[in-house]
Amino acid sequence: MKTIVIATGNAHKVEEFNRLAEVFSLPGIRFVSAKDILEGGMPHVVEDSGTFLGNARLKALALKKCVPADLFVLADDSGLCVDALGGAPGVETAYYAGPKATAEENRAKLLAALDGVPVEQRGAHFVCLLLLISPDGTESVFDARCHGSIATRESGNGGFGYDPIFIPQGFSQTFAELDGKTKDRLSHRGNAFAALAKFFA
Ligand code: IMP
Repeated sequence: MKTIVIATGNAHKVEEFNRLAEVFSLPGIRFVSAKDILEGGMPHVVEDSGTFLGNARLKALALKKCVPADLFVLADDSGLCVDALGGAPGVETAYYAGPKATAEENRAKLLAALDGVPVEQRGAHFVCLLLLISPDGTESVFDARCHGSIATRESGNGGFGYDPIFIPQGFSQTFAELDGKTKDRLSHRGNAFAALAKFFA
């Protein structure tokens, strides 16, 4: 049995990984979160590398130091890139409205930044970069994007983060209005996870 520890303190990401693990049901693999095996949970990491890969590596290495050497460590760095803002907030997505910003504040700032921008110019994509560190220290990267657009107002109660204002391509509802399984099928995290599942298969 291989154990993969998820290097995040974000309970929503853990919930999505658990759902994905169930869908892909990888034989001989179990996912646990940092919180499940470490007192104090995921160590605090200053995510200042300037890239998704760099930030994922910072998180993965911080956790790797704290867990038994025979475990795999998986870090997720993700963000939202908005065309009309030249790709911002990008790697700054979590801190868009400030270092301690809540998801509500981040969404409000993004909606304000796009105030008056017409629907056809509200294109955006989510990025998910997964970095897996194997027990021997080998690093493997799986990444995916999910294209869509930014709504003009919030809708829906599901999901997390920017879900209430992100409309995936081909849909008229936000991620927060779609059920979790539909989000997983379309999402940056779902598709990056599919690549990870292929690696283990
Ligand atoms: P990270 O935890 O440093 O990777 O920051 C990710 C940022 O992107 C946070 O602000 C999340 O809320 C946001 N984010 C990442 N994935 C999603 C998603 O699937 N839906 C909504 N927001 C997301």
